[in-house]
Amino acid sequence: MNGAASSPRVFLTFDDGPDPEWTPRILDLLLRADVRASFFVIGVHAQHEPALVRRMAAEGHTVGNHTFSHRHPWLLSNQDAAAQVHEGCNAITAVLGQMPMFYRAPHGRHRQCMIDAAVACGEIPVPWQLSAVDWGPLGTAARIAARLRRIRPDDIVLMHDGRNRHNRPDELLRVLPGFLDELADRGLRPVALDGY
Ligand SMILES: [Zn+2]
Repeated sequence: MNGAASSPRVFLTFDDGPDPEWTPRILDLLLRADVRASFFVIGVHAQHEPALVRRMAAEGHTVGNHTFSHRHPWLLSNQDAAAQVHEGCNAITAVLGQMPMFYRAPHGRHRQCMIDAAVACGEIPVPWQLSAVDWGPLGTAARIAARLRRIRPDDIVLMHDGRNRHNRPDELLRVLPGFLDELADRGLRPVALDGY
């Protein structure tokens, strides 16, 4: 095994897209850097931007289920909560012709019936170890960069390509090129969740 293949892995994940403005910019950057990541897409956005979802898959990224419309899990009936997971899965499957293998809870709020629905669909629930907090008043480029610098081997990193709510993909994009350079310098190898 060569050095690159045996170096420690990290998993970059982008939630809440696809976004017609920001997702292509992030995909362009990942393509230039020859880096594969994972995108947890919102079903209704996937329906609006199917070409972007197909581009993610075509360029080697993993596409995961982030529910149909990103409603807060704790504010739903059991039936509606499970439907969010199923309909998110269906939206991705309709675009890609294959079911997603991974699920991430919206707002990071876990609810057992949603986990059960995801697992029943063959999806593995995916947490994160490091959040960029690329949203709201704390989501400035300098703060995002400082958080990302704390990455350690095997970390799953939460970031956002979608403009949904208070996300700040504009700030994230200012620091992503430097972050990717730093990963390379530190010998951390970003891979998509296929190799999870
Ligand atoms: Zn989200």
